Amino acid sequence: MKNFLPALINLIFPPLCINCNTPLIGGDKLLCSACRAQLNFIKDFCPVCGSPDSGNSCQLCSTGRFYFDGARSLFPYSMVVQNLLHNLKYNDFTGCARYLSKFIGNYLNEIEPFEDVDIITPVPLHKVKQRARGYNQSLLLACEVARWLPRPVIKDLIKRTRFTGTQTRLNRSERQQNVRNAFSLNPKYSLEQKNILLIDDVFTTGATVNSISNLLKDNGINRIYVLTIARA
Ligand SMILES: [Zn+2]
Ligand SMILES: [Zn+2]
Repeated sequence: MKNFLPALINLIFPPLCINCNTPLIGGDKLLCSACRAQLNFIKDFCPVCGSPDSGNSCQLCSTGRFYFDGARSLFPYSMVVQNLLHNLKYNDFTGCARYLSKFIGNYLNEIEPFEDVDIITPVPLHKVKQRARGYNQSLLLACEVARWLPRPVIKDLIKRTRFTGTQTRLNRSERQQNVRNAFSLNPKYSLEQKNILLIDDVFTTGATVNSISNLLKDNGINRIYVLTIARA
């Protein structure tokens, strides 16, 4: 009887696909099967920065220095992925992280296992932003990664010391300026010679993860990997 009312509501108002608004059927969650079929892993990428289809000479790598050893993203940035990440940030965040979890598991299994990683850590939000939103979506993703790659998640390894605002309208060099010296390491951890996997939702120019990687390398971290859901 307890499940009767939600079942009835679902029958009258079936949940809609967050991308195309068609009613979800057959136990589908968040996305209909047609939209889900658009989620294809990036399989051909630059081994350093993870840019798709970069062949032998990567344009992004040729224009700047990256301090991380390897960045990877599950999907190219499409409308489906954009809607999923919007859902993760503003609506059904735990449900959406769980939804992405199986894709993360498959990615680690099929594309990049990150076997020599010791520690998983999220890109932090500034505490003002985190207080407003209530949680950090990158931490939720980091916890999902750890379900498949059983390593400790340190949620407070990196701190944002400066409020950097939204980077949406900034170009690459403006973004680099914007995030310079915006982070610090929590002195309570000593992680020299460890390998770290940094988790974020989107890789755009790489300015944020690069700034953090620079800081980590300065503090004796051995190898730094980056994993994001989307590649803009
Ligand atoms: Zn759909
Ligand atoms: Zn590259």
